[in-house]
Amino acid sequence: MRNDGNTSLDQLKEEVHRLCLRKGWGVEGVQNPQHVAMAMTVEMSELLEHFQWLDPEDVSRLMEGGDPDRLAMIAEEFADVMMYGLQLARTLGFDITQQILRKIEIVDHRPPKAGSPKR
Ligand SMILES: [Mg+2]
Repeated sequence: MRNDGNTSLDQLKEEVHRLCLRKGWGVEGVQNPQHVAMAMTVEMSELLEHFQWLDPEDVSRLMEGGDPDRLAMIAEEFADVMMYGLQLARTLGFDITQQILRKIEIVDHRPPKAGSPKR
């Protein structure tokens, strides 16, 4: 079974691209990155809907595996967000790993912002 441990980001970028080709989305499977970025935000909102109005106890239950139906819906919306992210990176030609490592370096050396979480 394929999973995070045995599938590269390049492979996933290519699979999303092939989906776009099969569906006839964009020009030769390449959609306008502006549209992709906007769609990513819409999907992020769909993801957030599953957290809307949860009590702290609900969040704890979710984290402890006590709400598998909600977790499945969250995972599906997360996949939508990530698929658009992969598509954006492929279309604009940036390397996701390099960008994340670069950002980790930046955040790691930045003083904490006021109000940022302590844990
Ligand atoms: Mg969605």
